[in-house]
Amino acid sequence: MRAGRHFLQIPGPTNVPDRVLRAIAQPTIDHRGPDFAELALDVLRRIKPVFGTSGPVVIYPSSGTGAWEAALVNTLSPGDHVLAFETGHFATLWRDMAEGLGLVVDFVPGDWRHGVDPAVVAERLAADTRHRIAAVMVVHNETSTGVTSRVPEIRAAIDRADHPALLLVDTISSLGSIDYRHDEWGVDVTISCSQKGLMLPPGLGFNAISEKALAAAEGARLPKSYWNWAPFLEANERGYYPYTPPTNLLYGLREALALLESEGLPAVFARHDRHAAATRAAVRGWGLEVLCADEREHSSALTAVLLDEEHDANKVRQIILDRFDMSLGAGLGKVSGRVFRIGHLGDFNDLTLAGTLSGVQMGLELAGVPVDPGGIRAALEVLRA
Ligand code: PLP
Repeated sequence: MRAGRHFLQIPGPTNVPDRVLRAIAQPTIDHRGPDFAELALDVLRRIKPVFGTSGPVVIYPSSGTGAWEAALVNTLSPGDHVLAFETGHFATLWRDMAEGLGLVVDFVPGDWRHGVDPAVVAERLAADTRHRIAAVMVVHNETSTGVTSRVPEIRAAIDRADHPALLLVDTISSLGSIDYRHDEWGVDVTISCSQKGLMLPPGLGFNAISEKALAAAEGARLPKSYWNWAPFLEANERGYYPYTPPTNLLYGLREALALLESEGLPAVFARHDRHAAATRAAVRGWGLEVLCADEREHSSALTAVLLDEEHDANKVRQIILDRFDMSLGAGLGKVSGRVFRIGHLGDFNDLTLAGTLSGVQMGLELAGVPVDPGGIRAALEVLRA
């Protein structure tokens, strides 16, 4: 046992506020009784503004991967074509899932340093004159790279092509951290989960559903049972679930929503933007490179730091864990060993960031990565401003 709190600075699961932990520790209740219905109706109503929607949000007992599957199986049929983009590790896993489910994926290659290019969306859809593409799949915030795709521009590209494809967006590491608007941006299914910006433990998966997606669900023929929206939406009307709900996580969700409401979403987003800017100032101050290569696409939830070929990012992470009891995100997939990721999302303030960046700087120095110690000062200047 080590003294003090572990620094959990991976880009999710994130630190769970004490208030949320205490809320989760209440006794489990009868999920068919009136108290549960009150809880469920309350969270189902209060989660909507977080997605920026007035439509239904389904809350599954699942991880984010389950919510991905739910979005696909409820809206698509075997053999349907979908357009997806290689923005990083999670976009690639979602592609694999779509293929595994029997969809035909047009996967646009990427360099893992850029988001989805709206011009390519426009081009691919314009070329699809027979409207075979049934859905466009976008990961809003690529957690493996720290790149945030520009969803409104992607929507505009779909509209310009006058294409009927559904827009499915993964907000797993952006919801509750980065500005997001399901209705205003014309998204059809927004996928998310509990363990990142919502400041909860893992275990809840979300689908926010547009009217167009509900209509598509009527004819969607991919096999489904557990993920089927229909029984959910029906039971949710009365505050119930079609199977045993994750009661205690819903207590936690109610508390987390109260935290987000009291700070106000615009302030939550501004806080994340500021911490991300301070983190980039540190990285550049150290003389290192941020993986994201487009100024318009920097993630406000995490920063991936690229090291040169001579230095192993996993060794840096190991030293930081051993010496300073801080967990940082590993490089995933193609960037394994080349990057480490600093999570700055969720329940997080200026001094948490200052501590985090201090640990990173010391770890880099101990690992023999040549860094300018002015990195920390550059970050503190952003925080002080
Ligand atoms: N999509 C993104 C962007 C993610 O960051 C993750 C996990 O970190 C997932 C999907 C998969 O979510 P889960 O691990 O909760 O199944």
